This record gives sequence, C-alpha cells and structure tokens, in this order.
Amino acid sequence: METINTTLLIIGGGPGGYVAGIRAGQLGIPTVLVEGAQPGGTCLNIGCIPSKALIHAADEYCKVRSYAAETSSLGISAGNARIDLGKTVAWKDGIVRKLTGGVGALLKKNGVRLVNGWATILDGKTVEVTPDGAPEATVRIRCEHLLLASGSQAVELPFMPFDGTVISSTEALSLSSVPERLVVVGAGYIGLELGTAFRKLGAQVTVVEAAERILPAYDAELVKPVASSLARLGVELRLATSVLGMEDGREGKQVRVRDASSVEAFLEADKVLVAVGRKPRTVGWGLENLMLDMEGRALKVDDGCRTSMRNVWAIGDLTGEPMLAHRAMAQGEMVAEIIAGKRRHFAPAAIPAVCYTDPEIVVAGLSPAEAAAAGIEAISASFPFSANGRAMTIEGTDGFVRVVARKDNHLILGWQAVGVGVSELAAGFTQSIELGALLEDVGRTIHAHPTLGEAVQEAALRALGHALHI
Ligand code: FAD
Ligand code: NAD
Repeated sequence: METINTTLLIIGGGPGGYVAGIRAGQLGIPTVLVEGAQPGGTCLNIGCIPSKALIHAADEYCKVRSYAAETSSLGISAGNARIDLGKTVAWKDGIVRKLTGGVGALLKKNGVRLVNGWATILDGKTVEVTPDGAPEATVRIRCEHLLLASGSQAVELPFMPFDGTVISSTEALSLSSVPERLVVVGAGYIGLELGTAFRKLGAQVTVVEAAERILPAYDAELVKPVASSLARLGVELRLATSVLGMEDGREGKQVRVRDASSVEAFLEADKVLVAVGRKPRTVGWGLENLMLDMEGRALKVDDGCRTSMRNVWAIGDLTGEPMLAHRAMAQGEMVAEIIAGKRRHFAPAAIPAVCYTDPEIVVAGLSPAEAAAAGIEAISASFPFSANGRAMTIEGTDGFVRVVARKDNHLILGWQAVGVGVSELAAGFTQSIELGALLEDVGRTIHAHPTLGEAVQEAALRALGHALHI
C-alpha cells in the first residue's frame, strides 16, 4: 500500500476543509486534502449554492406566472409560463460544476494534493483512504497535523426513513418534476427556503412544524413578514404539530400528523421533505477511535479549533452550531494560520446569518432580547422599508431594519433585517459590529440613494432620536 507523508492532512473538502487547504498552501505548509465525493462539500454540491439557484428559478417563474395571470401591478402581461424542472436542475448543476471545478483548481494552484476517497482514521496521525468501489487503491497517509472537516448530514426521522417519497434536501434539489403535493416537515431554514421555492414552482405545499411558530430560532417580529408572505403564496402551515409516520392512503401516500390538541390528520403527499436539522458527521469513519471530547453531538473544540488531542483540529459543521458555510471557512483559514505559527483565536464579534425566505431575513450580533439576556442596557430602533424609496421601486416595502446598541456609549451590538434582498446588507452589518462602530458612525456615513442601505442609516439615526425620513 502506498504511504503518503505530509505536514497537514485535511479530511473533508467542504468550505471548512478546502479553505483551510488553500490558506495552508499559501503559507507553504505541505498539505493533503482527502474528499470522498466532489470538492466543495455540502455547500457547493447539495446546500447553499444549489438551493439558492433553485430559489432564484422559482422566483423568476412565479414572477412570469403573475404577468401571465395579469395579477402584477407593473402593467406587464405575458403569455403562459412553463417550467421544465429538468432543465432548471441542469442549469443548477452547471453552476455546481463550475464552482467545484474552481475549488479543485484553487487547491492545485496552491500546491495542495487532493486525494479522492473516503478516509478512515487509524490514529491521530494515520489515516487510510479508499476510493469509492476500489479497495485495491487504498492509500495510507501519515501527518503531523490532522484537521477534521467532515461536515454534517440530514437528520432522518427513525419512523420515516428517506426512501424516495420521503426525501432530504439533497434529493429535493435534484427532482425531475415539481411534485403536485409536497409536505415539508420542519419550518426552519431548509423547510421554508425550499418549501417556498416549490410553492412558487407550482406545488401544493403544507409545512408541519413541531414548534408554535415558523423559524423558532429567529425573533417573532422578524418572522412576521415571512409568515404573511407564506399565507399570500398559499403555503399551508400546521404549527405545534408532530408527524407520526407515513401510511398508504386512497390516493397514494399520506403523512399522519397530530396537533397540540391531539387531533390527528392525514396529509396526502407525493413527496415529503424532512428538514428537521442536520447532525455532525462523527461516526462510521474511525473518529470514535480517537475518543475525543464531545459537546452534545458535535466535536468539542477550543477557541483555536483544537480538539482534546494534540495536533488534531476540527472545524465547520462537525463542531456544531451555527452550521454555516462562512463560519466553517473562517475556522479553516484560522487553523491553517495557527499551524503556520501565527497567533489567532476564533472570536468573531458576530457571525451573520441569512435565511433566504421571501422576504429574506438577516441577523448579525445581538437582538434586543439577547442583549437583555446578557445583562446589557441597550437601545434599539427600527426603520420600515415602507418609508424607503428603493424598496417601493422593487415592490419590497414589507419589512424593516433594526439596530441594537449599548445605551451608555452607543456601541452597535446587533442588526436584524427582514425584506426583499436584505441578504446583501449582511456585509455592512457585520463590518460595523466587527469594527466597533457607534450609532453616530453609521448615522453620519453617506449612504447611496436610492438603496435599501438608507434604511440602515435611518435605523441608526432613529436610535439616536432623529431619523430624517419618518
Ligand atoms: P461540508 O460542507 O458538509 O463538507 C464536508 C465534506 O467532507 C463533504 O464533502 C464530505 O463528502 C466529506 N467527508 C466526510 N467524511 C469524509 C471521509 N471520511 N472521508 C473523506 N471525505 C469525507 N450555509 C450557509 O452559510 N448559507 C446557506 O445559504 C446555506 N444553505 C444550505 C442549504 C442546504 C440545503 C444545506 C443542506 C445546507 C446549507 N448551509 C448553508 C449549510 C452549509 O452547507 C454548511 O454549514 C457547510 O457546508 C459546512 O461546511 P463543512 O466544511 O463543515 O462541511
Ligand atoms: P433547522 O434547525 O433550521 O430547522 C429545523 C426545524 O424543524 C425547526 O423549526 C424545528 O423546530 C423543526 N422540527 C424538528 N423536529 C421536528 C419534528 N419531528 N416535526 C416537525 N418539526 C420538527 O434545520 P434545517 O432546516 O434542517 O437546516 C439544517 C441546518 O442547515 C440549519 O440549522 C443551518 O445551519 C443550515 N442551513 C442554513 C441555511 C442558510 O444559512 N440560509 C439554509 C439551509 C440550511
């Protein structure tokens, strides 16, 4: 068996692993990256990018349908709208190919050796890698530093296993036709992003959520415009409801559910998208042998992403919440720098999060409730998009921007926004928090007109008591 010796061995080529690889290569660290599937991980292959492509296609189709039905206020009419989901999926796959190919090229350019195959850990310095279906091609890799970046996988409900009718987001992103009746279990990120997209693509969508409201991780005020939009779109919500299992009905499969008053119902479904969370990928590849300290289902790491074993590091979804691509990337870049001898800590002032619902939600830093829970005396103010000219011109007046700042010195602690296209406000929000901006700094910054960003400036001015346009 061939043995490869290297300084850094990375297991997993998702945003955490491949970014660590690129930075390690830039820093001159001999690096091998092992990936069992395509480079790019969940994010590029079956997550962030494909889901946003599908959401965009669904938005476009929905728009054209509204022109065809002459329900748009813009004075636009069009002929019948049609969609060939197979072609949409092929277009999405093209983007995925371009991006994953780009990752391969970046790794190569930076001198990182990509070994295709599934890694099994033998000990903290030795790993065996077997390509799919080719056990004879197994190689052994010995390293000084082992970086674990194996990511996460969809949680399966034990009484409703994935079987082609019951699907995870992976299958939902590659369907060949739009299901007539789609039941979505879980009104979190995936359930609402994809549930909304499939409704816009023409499916009848019912969302079953165990909690009493949608997106329970976000504050109630932020979620209201999303709930109104779901109602307008005709998405049926069954809140405080549990799924009990799949049964055969008169017209195919049905999902048995029970609400908070113990009333049972049957929801007919051509497909059932289960989106009840993701779990770190910790079993089945020898990780157990290392007996590393855990934190719940995730690997426990310190502020340098060190595990409980010397020179074994872990990043990304494997290390738990928030399971977001940009967090994984930031951790990967940092670990490469620490291994190269730089002094780094993972202590971001804020990790932004965006939910690509309609309208979008973006948060960075503390909400008013989180500031209060942290014992900070804070002020907060909102500015509605109904008073923003740009929002009117893009039919996006639902929603608002909210700022949270310390009462004593006006240091900005957090931003929240909900509205059309607000994902792009994430950069400014996070920069202002990371750079320690005060309300006065944002209030006095000239914001281009007409932009949604003016609502950011106005929220800061409003917190200071002198908003201009309301
Ligand atoms: P992953 O991306 O999961 O990569 C891990 C890689 O390791 C995989 O390629 C896997 O094949 C490989 N691997 C695992 N075990 C082995 C082994 N033993 N040997 C070899 N290779 C192995 N996040 C956002 O920030 N924004 C979004 O909009 C967003 N949308 C999402 C939409 C969906 C539908 C999903 C499912 C997720 C989404 N996420 C989003 C989450 C995001 O994809 C993850 O947080 C991110 O991919 C985690 O990166 P990672 O590097 O930790 O792991
Ligand atoms: P999630 O944690 O966002 O939402 C899961 C939802 O399912 C919750 O509302 C929960 O109350 C509900 N739930 C749990 N068990 C249930 C049950 N038995 N019956 C009914 N409802 C149930 O998880 P997700 O939507 O699967 O997404 C997984 C992760 O992927 C996210 O946490 C996030 O880290 C990442 N992601 C991020 C984005 C983004 O950044 N835009 C998009 C998609 C996914």
